[in-house]
Amino acid sequence: MQTNILLKQLKGYLSKTKLDFVKEALFFAEKNHKNQFRKSGDPFINHPISTALYLANMKMDSTTISAALLHDVIEDCGITKEEINSKFGSHVANLVDGVTKLKIEKNNSKINILDTEQLRAANVRKILTAMSDDVRVVLIKLADRLHNMLTLDALEHENQKRIAQETLDIYAPLAHRLGMWNMKWRLEDQAFKYLMPKKYKMTSRLIARKRTKRELYVNKVIKDLQINLEKSKISGSIHGRPKHLYSIFKKIEKYSHQGKKFDEIYDLIALRIIVNNISECYTTLGVVHNLWKPVPGEFDDYIANPKDSMYQSLHTTVMCFDGYPVEIQIKTEDMHLTAEEGIAAHWAYKEEDNESIDDKYDSKMNWFKQLLDRQVDVEKDIDYVDSIKKDVLGDQVFIYTPKGEIKNLPVGATPLDFAYEVHTELGHDCVSSLINGKTVSLETPLKNGDTVEIRKSKNPRGPRLDWLNPDLQFVNTSKAKLKIRQWFRKQERESNISRGTRIIKKESNKLGFKINSKEISILPGFDNFSDLAEQLGSGEISIAQLAKSIEKKYLNTSSKNDQNNSSPNVIVMGFNNLPNKISKCCNPTFGQEIQGYLTRKKTVSVHVSNCNLLRYSREPERIVNVVWGTNSQTLQVKIQVDADDRIGLLRDITSVVSSENININFLQSTDYGKLTKIQFTVFTSGIEQLSRIYSRIEAISGVRNIQRLN
Ligand code: MN
Repeated sequence: MQTNILLKQLKGYLSKTKLDFVKEALFFAEKNHKNQFRKSGDPFINHPISTALYLANMKMDSTTISAALLHDVIEDCGITKEEINSKFGSHVANLVDGVTKLKIEKNNSKINILDTEQLRAANVRKILTAMSDDVRVVLIKLADRLHNMLTLDALEHENQKRIAQETLDIYAPLAHRLGMWNMKWRLEDQAFKYLMPKKYKMTSRLIARKRTKRELYVNKVIKDLQINLEKSKISGSIHGRPKHLYSIFKKIEKYSHQGKKFDEIYDLIALRIIVNNISECYTTLGVVHNLWKPVPGEFDDYIANPKDSMYQSLHTTVMCFDGYPVEIQIKTEDMHLTAEEGIAAHWAYKEEDNESIDDKYDSKMNWFKQLLDRQVDVEKDIDYVDSIKKDVLGDQVFIYTPKGEIKNLPVGATPLDFAYEVHTELGHDCVSSLINGKTVSLETPLKNGDTVEIRKSKNPRGPRLDWLNPDLQFVNTSKAKLKIRQWFRKQERESNISRGTRIIKKESNKLGFKINSKEISILPGFDNFSDLAEQLGSGEISIAQLAKSIEKKYLNTSSKNDQNNSSPNVIVMGFNNLPNKISKCCNPTFGQEIQGYLTRKKTVSVHVSNCNLLRYSREPERIVNVVWGTNSQTLQVKIQVDADDRIGLLRDITSVVSSENININFLQSTDYGKLTKIQFTVFTSGIEQLSRIYSRIEAISGVRNIQRLN
């Protein structure tokens, strides 16, 4: 049934060759989705067909229609992109791939599978990226989303809300930016229905209530208009313009904030006059303004100044019969089509060979470039989607540079935001700003049409920290915030690295393990020494965490091999069953960096890596790699604590150690002057525990220094 409607619609505008191509895709989709069902119980194939039908109603080209029919075969049928490529060509394959969700590979550490929010953000980002290559990706995605929204009833409540919210936050604004008015309001109304069911019902009841009275009024206005247009020899058609529920609801909300009352009859009246050409548009405007008094400030000429989305029309509001305001739009048929279908109208009819959107349209799409800018700037998917939601898809103001260039910024943006939008350095060095020639403070909110000039300091000086204070409202775009944060992070990085390096040196001396850049690179989560030092220096990770990771590394590498070894504590790499023993000269303990020395008796003696015996060995080829085996439970460490002498000191130290459930052996204390030196040996489970004991002993009052003795 649906199939017939689709084919009939396609026959109306596609050539036979193109139609056959689409049929091929339809057949392929039917075959692959066979025996698949949606949550509603519907055969799955209805979904891609409905998606394609929406696009066919806008007379989209055969590539788009085919891709729409195939849009779920990669995701749900395991078909590969290459297969689509070989059957239907690269354009269709790229479009299908563009709307396909990211595949989660179990071992892909780049995507944290547990965090579904991150995954969703990554998917939105993927679509926006694909869209910047071929905008038809997003047309298919919108049609797909619309059908999903229309069949949302089958899903669980939680999913309904989540999908509806995403639709309202991202896809409806995208449709708006692409000028697809019809798509936008249908998405919005569906999302409205699921997000605010009570308010949705209230709004629809409100519209139904005074319908008869309203229709009488509208008819009277239309009749009067028609008579007057005929007098001016204009044959226009006049329609009551249905307002969609969500926009009415927003108007009601706005009124209630302003303390105004929403009028159930008159606030719902809007008319559209469609005429034959542009000059008739202006003549008609004259006729309207002659009949009724225009409301000041409510006139917009989008014919002379088309919107970014290419939208064109004349807008006016007049005080009609009985002094009630009526909104009127005046446009040509072409403009009307563009207004309903937006960017899609530019794809229609143009069969085909022309696989790229026309340049005129492209250059209009400033916001499109912003999408691309963000790609480079923002690393985390969630931050990216947030910044797109707020800076690009939210309500905008248009601001002029002194040279007359237009920049669009989100509502609430300040001169400082503007400076960052123009250039990062201009933001960093911004000292003052002028709006329309007048000096204003940097946090003044910008208004539509403002011309903004930024004064910068002579020498680069960098941003101020309080620009980031949300209470001061210096910046409101995520782009500016990001740039400021990046600047500070870069400044801080250097000092954090040197602080971190000092910590590593100090702590590793205390703990008795040597840590070098090579070693660090094997630790999970760090690419290089500077990264690790920075994170330690900024307090993002603690030395205890570092100790833990080092220990883990030793445990992991050893777990498989340790059974056959002569000593359970050390594994000689590359040799099986080679007897080994801990050397007496440097007496390495568990966790320390070690190396082996192959003796003439074919045993391996194990030394601390920097042991002089190894360093000055005449036969370096005898040095072999060894690692610690499984934790022996008994890392024997001799510790020295220097402290101000006081009563109870010894008790405090021993109670820390015994609270860790470990034994103290050999304890002695020597006084010298006001200081006391306490030495003892503990048997710990490893570096991690040792590190913890250190921190706890250091916290004891009077303790000045703690170190490990060899
Ligand atoms: Mn789908």
